[in-house]
Amino acid sequence: MLDRSLYDVVVVGGGPSGATAANDLARIGHSVLMLDRAGRIKPCGGAIPPRAIRDFEIPDELVVAKINCAMIVSPKDRRVDMPVEGSYVGMVDRDVFDEWLRNRAHQSGAERRVGTYEKFERDADGTAIITYKDAEGIEERVHARYVIGADGALSKVARDTVRGGDKMPYVFAYHEIVKSPEPGTADFSPARCDVYYRGTLSPDFYSWVFPHGDTMSIGTGSANKGFSLKGSVADLRKITGLDKVETIRKEGAPIPLKPLKKWDNGRDVVLAGDAAGVVAPASGEGIYYAMLGGRLAADAVDLCLKTGDAKALATARKRFMKDHGTVFFILGIMQRFWYGSDAMRERFVKMCDDKDVQRLTWESYTEKKLVRKDPLAHVKIFIKDMAHLLGIARVA
Ligand SMILES: Cc1cc2nc3c(=O)[nH]c(=O)nc-3n(C[C@H](O)[C@H](O)[C@H](O)COP(=O)(O)OP(=O)(O)OC[C@H]3O[C@@H](n4cnc5c(N)ncnc54)[C@H](O)[C@@H]3O)c2cc1C
Repeated sequence: MLDRSLYDVVVVGGGPSGATAANDLARIGHSVLMLDRAGRIKPCGGAIPPRAIRDFEIPDELVVAKINCAMIVSPKDRRVDMPVEGSYVGMVDRDVFDEWLRNRAHQSGAERRVGTYEKFERDADGTAIITYKDAEGIEERVHARYVIGADGALSKVARDTVRGGDKMPYVFAYHEIVKSPEPGTADFSPARCDVYYRGTLSPDFYSWVFPHGDTMSIGTGSANKGFSLKGSVADLRKITGLDKVETIRKEGAPIPLKPLKKWDNGRDVVLAGDAAGVVAPASGEGIYYAMLGGRLAADAVDLCLKTGDAKALATARKRFMKDHGTVFFILGIMQRFWYGSDAMRERFVKMCDDKDVQRLTWESYTEKKLVRKDPLAHVKIFIKDMAHLLGIARVA
């Protein structure tokens, strides 16, 4: 069926990036269609920083747990507690969180449709046509002045429309959602995230136990295709004494490793979130960056709609990289050095015992900026970092 309707913006994907973009654009009066294929809960640890909660007005009832400490565990089982002083890590359940975001966009005026994006074409006058299959499998088409590709890792919009959109490196991540045991039983605390740096559990990333109130996420990631993620999570559940608790879901998904060089086609498409490759290296954190990417894509499209100048699409990537490019670069280096061998992981965990490292880590995670008020602490950390990296510092 040919739908002649023309939207200012069609947003493909209703995850954190797409729902944020749709909400922002509908709120300022643009006609928006948000298309989401639905039917699957996004596999995700669900950890978000207070900055995300504040900037994107997330209500407290969506935060199912507030974490006040991370326990970092080394290959030799050195355990380092990193308390989150004066702040916290929020935990959200993605089924409820994503649906709330989509509903908010709808309340703001965006039209919601369930459908799977199929292809991108152009009308005789050059207007974009989006073809999708609806919930019954029937093919539908809509016209769009602008398109935001927020369809996640392995984005089909990116592959169809943006140069280099088909060349994204990935880590694959897998987790099991289990019922939380009673606090104090097994190796479990309801307000503490546990992070394991151990080659047997992940040869190039890390493994985690994240509490979510009644449930918890136990997972791991790796870019090594031969590595058994399921075997690793089974081992982690044994190590932590969480092998007997009830399993609710088992699921996995790719995590992009690097922002794409281009996020737009220079004409009428811009990418956001995982579709643009925007997940922090080393940590795999993507929710805040996806929401920010959605907001910056919405700003860029709003500018295009007002000025008619498609060059504005490139501002989304420019603004993102200006604020976060350095952190992504540093985290990329960290992942390459520290996650390379168990000897390096041992040094990394030892370094996390340092109070300055802990303070700066939490400040930059919770507030999403490099804290400049204490330059001496940065210098101290740099020197310690180099000492550990070069093997000058003693591990034991
Ligand atoms: C196992 C795992 C654990 C993670 N843990 C964390 C964590 O603790 N904290 C954190 O910050 N990040 C985490 N991440 C990363 C985070 O989940 C992503 O970065 C984030 O979800 C990206 O949001 P998005 O909106 O860009 O994409 P997505 O959340 O993937 O949303 C994409 C949306 O597009 C829709 N879609 C896809 N294809 C189509 C199509 N063809 N047509 C229509 N709709 C389509 C999907 O239905 C989905 O709703 C984790 C990822 C994984 C895999």
